Amino acid sequence: MHIIEQIEAVLEKGTLDYSPETRYVFRTDTTKFTGNPDVVVNVKTENEVAKIVSVAISNGVSVIARGAGTGMSGGAVPIKGGILLNFETMDEIIRIDQKKKLAFVQPGVITDVLRDAVKGFGLYYPPDPSSSAVSTIGGNFAENAGGLHCVKYGVTARYVKGFKFVDSAGNIQKCGVYDEENSFPGSFVMIGSEGTLGIVTEIALELIDNPPLYDTYITYHRSLLKAIATVIKIMNMAINPAVIELIDRDALKAAISYSDIYLPENTEAVLIIKLDSYFLPELLEKSILIENIFSLLKIMEFRKAENIEEENSFWALRKAVSTSIKKISPDKMNEDITVPLTNMYAFIESTRAISEKHNLKIVVYGHAGDGNLHVNILFDKNNKTESNNAGLASEDVFKKAIELGGNISGEHGIGLAKKSFMSMQYSKNEIVFMKKIKKAFDPENIFNPDKIFNDSKG
Ligand SMILES: Cc1cc2nc3c(=O)[nH]c(=O)nc-3n(C[C@H](O)[C@H](O)[C@H](O)COP(=O)(O)OP(=O)(O)OC[C@H]3O[C@@H](n4cnc5c(N)ncnc54)[C@H](O)[C@@H]3O)c2cc1C
Repeated sequence: MHIIEQIEAVLEKGTLDYSPETRYVFRTDTTKFTGNPDVVVNVKTENEVAKIVSVAISNGVSVIARGAGTGMSGGAVPIKGGILLNFETMDEIIRIDQKKKLAFVQPGVITDVLRDAVKGFGLYYPPDPSSSAVSTIGGNFAENAGGLHCVKYGVTARYVKGFKFVDSAGNIQKCGVYDEENSFPGSFVMIGSEGTLGIVTEIALELIDNPPLYDTYITYHRSLLKAIATVIKIMNMAINPAVIELIDRDALKAAISYSDIYLPENTEAVLIIKLDSYFLPELLEKSILIENIFSLLKIMEFRKAENIEEENSFWALRKAVSTSIKKISPDKMNEDITVPLTNMYAFIESTRAISEKHNLKIVVYGHAGDGNLHVNILFDKNNKTESNNAGLASEDVFKKAIELGGNISGEHGIGLAKKSFMSMQYSKNEIVFMKKIKKAFDPENIFNPDKIFNDSKG
């Protein structure tokens, strides 16, 4: 029987599609990488996922899971063809346990849909990638997604209390709260493994009480150094901000060129800061402390949002950065490096030198409180010199981040985009160890091959 017929035979509620149009749509994510899936299966149930994996194993065909395709490292790109499992159709919030503060969800649930659903129970799911209006919990799990509130609340892994997955023998395995006694050994290493170790079919996420009180500030700085000094000072006090976002000079220039957002003259950097709390006295105390820091550091100007409209106007500036970049440049490489806070200034200064060296615009913004910066290298892929220089510039960016004690990826993952830079950051032994983990989970290399490592063959 042909493989398409074998898949059709095991489908319960799901559908499959191998039309050229659908395969074309699912050939890529937000990166420049493209593949071509042999077939797209819109999965609906855990059992059919398990059976499809069994079909794949017996035919020696690879399986690639895909959430919403918002990935920024090529993780969901079916670079070598194979069966692409589209999880957008497996999107049920199975149960919210208000007492235990747990949500049980299928992988295709959209991050914001979960956040909104738990709000009704007075609960909160903190990890909030900027893509949360479209990204899926399965994709967040596989990339160990971070986001704006993660400086205080931590990234996705902190909230995963259990999950179910289909292993490389086509069996459904249970981990954490799904079966504390017989949890699949070492399974939590799957969080952040980019779909290379197994296919996740259900996830149990911890929820916390929704902090009802918050204040939002915007601060304008005459120099980047001042802005970063403010971040460091805040992070060194017991303020524990819920959000600290930094927008650097060139990112600001891009943002205001396409919108009428207020920006004082000579602003070199902006911070957007959110404080939150369960208790009014604590919030008041934090506000006093932070305003003291602003006056101590003599920052140029700051505003505290007096109402929701004003707060939205602060976030509008942050949002305007990525939309305006799309207008000023046909293409960009969005690198998500991390550096220790004390080296953030040196790092951003070095991106100015990298920009000059390669004659390309580079804009920097991001989650400054945890040193996770988005470095956008702007170029035109149809211009050979620019395209080549963009590659060299991103290599320089990674080198600098590592030299300053950082990391080549804070949240977007390695996928295809950064696999050739793994040896910059990790020793031979570390890479050998990672490959051993891959081999232990997936000896035949059927799950998302050729991601993370240049040679992902165990
Ligand atoms: C505008 C924008 C802003 C962004 N901001 C952030 C941010 O602030 N923080 C951040 O961390 N990321 C951010 N991202 C990147 C991206 O949104 C995240 O990586 C997100 O977690 C990907 O989710 P997705 O559903 O789109 O997954 P996809 O892109 O579809 O897939 C991502 C990876 O997950 C795997 N996968 C998906 N489902 C499963 C499953 N069921 N089982 C096993 N593996 C699976 C895929 O194989 C792939 O390797 C941003 C992206 C965009 C476009």
